[in-house]
This record gives sequence, C-alpha cells and structure tokens, in this order.
Amino acid sequence: MTLTEKLLARASGKTKVEPGEGVWVKADVLMTHDVCGPGTIGVFKREFGAEAKVWDPSRIVIIPDHYIFTSDAKANRNVDILREFVKEQGIVYFYDVIDDPDGSWRFDPSKGNLTRQYGARYAGVCHTALAEKGHTRPGEVLFGTDSHTCMAGAFNEFATGIGNTDAGFVMGAGKLLLRVPETMHFRLEGRLQPGVMAKDIILHIIGEIGFDGATYRAMQYGGSGVAGLSMDDRMTIANMAIEAGGKNAIFPFDGRTAEYVEARTRLNGTPQKYEPVEPDADQKFCYELTVELDKLEPLVACPPNPGNRKKAKELSEVKLDRAYIGSCTGGKASDFVEFARIVRGRQVKIDTFGVPATPDVVRLLRSTYWGGKSIWDILAEAGVRMTENAGCAACLGGPSDTFGRVNAPLKCISATNRNFPGRMGHKQAQIFLASPATVAASALAGRIADPREFL
Ligand code: SF4
Repeated sequence: MTLTEKLLARASGKTKVEPGEGVWVKADVLMTHDVCGPGTIGVFKREFGAEAKVWDPSRIVIIPDHYIFTSDAKANRNVDILREFVKEQGIVYFYDVIDDPDGSWRFDPSKGNLTRQYGARYAGVCHTALAEKGHTRPGEVLFGTDSHTCMAGAFNEFATGIGNTDAGFVMGAGKLLLRVPETMHFRLEGRLQPGVMAKDIILHIIGEIGFDGATYRAMQYGGSGVAGLSMDDRMTIANMAIEAGGKNAIFPFDGRTAEYVEARTRLNGTPQKYEPVEPDADQKFCYELTVELDKLEPLVACPPNPGNRKKAKELSEVKLDRAYIGSCTGGKASDFVEFARIVRGRQVKIDTFGVPATPDVVRLLRSTYWGGKSIWDILAEAGVRMTENAGCAACLGGPSDTFGRVNAPLKCISATNRNFPGRMGHKQAQIFLASPATVAASALAGRIADPREFL
C-alpha cells in the first residue's frame, strides 16, 4: 500500500484498502475557521440536536483567520459565534482573536491596518498555525473546512479539506466516509539551485499535470531530494495539492519531521505521541513523475489558473502594478527571509504588501537581526508595507477594506496559491503566482523578474 492507503487502512480499522473502496475513516483532528465554522456548527446542531455535544472537545481545533481585520460586522460576528460555541462545548483548542472569553471582537479601523489588533492566543492562518501549534502529527487523520488543509500532508499524515456538511457530521460522529484515492508519485531528485524555491517545485508539477491533473488523487512525494527540503518547503508543496485537484498530499516521515513536531507539540502542550507510516515495497501508483530539482528554474503561474506555468525569465515584458507576500503557502518565516535577502538595501518599485501568516512569524521577523537591523525593518525600509495583523488578508479577496485586497483590475504578482479570476478581489485583476524570491525580484523591477538577476 502507498502512504495514503496505509493511513486510511489504519484509520478505518482495516489491514488493507484498495483505491476506489469506500471506508469509514476515524478523525484525529477536525479544524474549522471563522468562514466555515458558523456553517459547520449550524449543520451539527441541525443534524445532532440543539443540545448535542461534539464527539471530542479535545480534537476540534478552531482558528479564526480569514475575515478578521475588517470592519464588516457580519465577519466580526462570526468570530463571536465561534467563541460562544467553544464555551458551550468546552473545546480545548480555540485560538481566539481576543483574550476575554466573554468579550466580543470588533476591528478598530481608526488604529490602521498595520498595528497589531489581536490578543495573546491568536494564531493566524489556520494551516500554518496548525503546524506551529503542534496539531499536525505524523500518522494521523486531519479534516479541515478549508481546501488547503492538504498542507499538513507535509507531516506524513492524511489531511484533506471537507465541506461544512461533512464537517458538521465529523463534529458529531468523529468519522467520515471516504473513497480511497489512487496515488500519484512525484520523485524529487537533487537539490534546488540558488533563487529557486519549493514553490517552483509545485508550480512545475502543476504545470506538468494541469490544474485538474490530480483530481481526487493522493500526491505522494519521495526520492532523495526530499531530505534537502525543510518542513516549510514541504508545507509549500503539500499546500498546493488542491490546486491540481488533489485529495491530499503526503510526504515520508524523517528526522526533520520528528524534530519539528516534537518541538511544536512540546511548546504548545499538544499531544506528543504519534505513529508515522512507511510505504510498502510493493506500493502501486497510477502515475509517476521524476523532478530533477537542480534543473528547475524560477517559475510563474500566469492567470487564469495555477497550472499556467511559464519561466520567470520569459515574462520580463510583463509590467506589474502590485506585489504581495503572505498566506499559508507564502507567508511563513522562511518565505519572508528569502524575500528580505533579495530586497535588502534596495527599493521596491510597485505597491508591495507583506502579510505574515502568523504572529510567530511577526515575532521572528522583528527579533532576528541582520547587521544591526531586524528583518522586519529591512523589509519596511525597502518599501514593503508590512502589517502585524497576521491572517489570510487579501489571499482570498475578503471584505473590501481588507489590507492588500486587489480592488481594481491590477496586475499583481503574489506568493499565494490560487489565481482564478476574482481570487484576490477584482474579477478583472490578473494574479501571477510565484515564489517569494520571484515576487521580491519582481517588486524591485516593477515587472516580472527572475530572482537570479538580483542574487
Ligand atoms: S491564506 Fe489564503 S489559501 Fe491560505 S487558508 Fe487563508 S485564504 Fe486560504
């Protein structure tokens, strides 16, 4: 069996499963956020009863992150609905925006968009926060009401996005009926060259197979190149499985996985026990592709979909209006570090927005110094509009007052993961997806640029 088949066999109490088979899978963690949480709660109460209790309050993780820093009263109210449900159900892991469990959340626009407006427990973008807070454990099953839940496949677990109806069921029953997906195998060999990032690996793969090329399939990674990838790199790659239609992504377990998970679970007091899975020698794949990492070059996914891949160096005629670094995929600490390496001591030529994925990323950028200056200050001095209000922000558009939202038909290069029409706001805007290094180089040039021009 492949890694995904082994995980689903274990979670369904079977010794063997086959692709196409329907199995009842026990959940280890159910994650929801402010956009889908209220709907999920509504389904749960409708189907299980107004007085029903969730299947396990220690396995439901609630992370408000999407429409937080906005004056939209309905969006603010969603966070309050989550808080009321957490109190009612005794849910253990709720990363609230505010500290007062009896309070209510109101964004204060008079304080501006850049200064922190959250309390001590707020955790930022759900997928990055799940990992930082030790909720992504090898060998487990994670369901989340968000399509990029697949990011946790970096940790050798089965992680997939589900809708509110399914999530309402999992909330009450702790399990879900799934069809076992076929597995595609991506063998990564060699090492990335300077200026080339993990984002380029996944843009290359989606470019090869198309934005529907992995529909309802598991995307399993292997090969000697995996060892050279950090956990942040693996998260970037796993995150975008859904941009090829994938059911999940899955990486092998190794020392890096163990080190990350052990540090994060200890720090946050989350359960530390886990049991990774290893593939069988006779695992069968429906598709195989070898990616030679040394040969990859900086890439860009042009509008209107993430599979529309071109080389950055071939797009130097494309003039840009805006650059954006942020999101679960592109707002991690390592993403900002690579971005800062390129813009350090230079000035961006176009409006450039920086939205860290989590408060931990903000802290790290503010407390890490290069030559007497924090990385945060290096970015700000280069002209990047950095906000402390970590969250999804403009990655998915959001309410019209969202920081960095593309409110006009602009050309924007972005370190995010999705570029279908309207994704970052305006329907006629054109979103070019690229690595943080390529976004940085393009922000400096005012046109699409290969980051190797600036190394
Ligand atoms: S940052 Fe973007 S892709 Fe990630 S969870 Fe938020 S909206 Fe979705």
